[in-house]
Amino acid sequence: MPRYELDGKVAIVTGAGRGIGRAIALRLAQEGAAVVVADIDEANAKKVAREIQAKGGRAAALKVDVSNKADVDAMVAQTVAEFGQLNILVNNAGIGAVGKLIDLDEKTWGRLMDVNAKGVLLCTQAAAHQMIAQGKGGRIINNASGAGKIAPGKDTPLGGYAASKHAVVGLTKQFGLELSSYQILVNCVCAGIVDTDMWDLIDRDTAKMQGVPLGSVKAKAVAGVPLGRIQRPEDVANTVVFLASEDASYITAQSFNVCGGMLPY
Ligand code: NAD
Repeated sequence: MPRYELDGKVAIVTGAGRGIGRAIALRLAQEGAAVVVADIDEANAKKVAREIQAKGGRAAALKVDVSNKADVDAMVAQTVAEFGQLNILVNNAGIGAVGKLIDLDEKTWGRLMDVNAKGVLLCTQAAAHQMIAQGKGGRIINNASGAGKIAPGKDTPLGGYAASKHAVVGLTKQFGLELSSYQILVNCVCAGIVDTDMWDLIDRDTAKMQGVPLGSVKAKAVAGVPLGRIQRPEDVANTVVFLASEDASYITAQSFNVCGGMLPY
């Protein structure tokens, strides 16, 4: 059952071909929004768009690399051409990479920053220009991470990823202020250990690096979650649809921890 009135709204969700982005796209559609499923993986984007359409929702799939300005500008233009406007942007696309900061190579650092940080900058710029031209405000919701708030820790080799996610929290704060006079509200979600392909990759690469059994890195991380279970993609989607709704109309430039109690602040 829909909980929020998003009928008539048009949303873009980046990285929506799988994982958390897919759950966000499905939930926004369930709440009545038309959804552009944008992903660098076109086949997955099409699959999710078809999933939404099969449930009676409105959706389109787009192949987009969020780190490429031409792709991003085309994404916003195609959204408006297809659905007439843009009201909600969810900056969800992101990549992970395992490695200690002291040895992190420039290529890995560059890709992390390009997708996770520059991607948020480019997509927000393009969406905000469109929303300003429409003159009706808008919502921009960034999928940062708990790693955007705290250092991953001595034995968690995610320093480059954490730096890129700290950038997302920073972009959220400043964009929220810059865009406040247009009633474009910008917030972000900081999730914990979410059960997706990304965490499987982190587990695999960290286990290999540390010489511990496959699955043990993830199991140890989940054991530290106060609510006692791994996070589901839908736990993130629940907060995203709230932030997209009228109920969140007095909230901007904020970060929300949705992490089962893991984060201290
Ligand atoms: P995932 O790897 O399962 O999915 C990421 C999606 O983004 C994929 O469909 C991928 O094709 C797409 N993508 C990657 N690079 C792209 C690009 N350049 N342009 C467009 N699309 C691109 O990851 P996930 O776990 O679903 O993570 C989604 C977001 O949530 C990421 O930003 C991630 O950092 C963040 N996050 C994840 C966790 C977690 O525990 N999994 C926790 C906190 C935050």
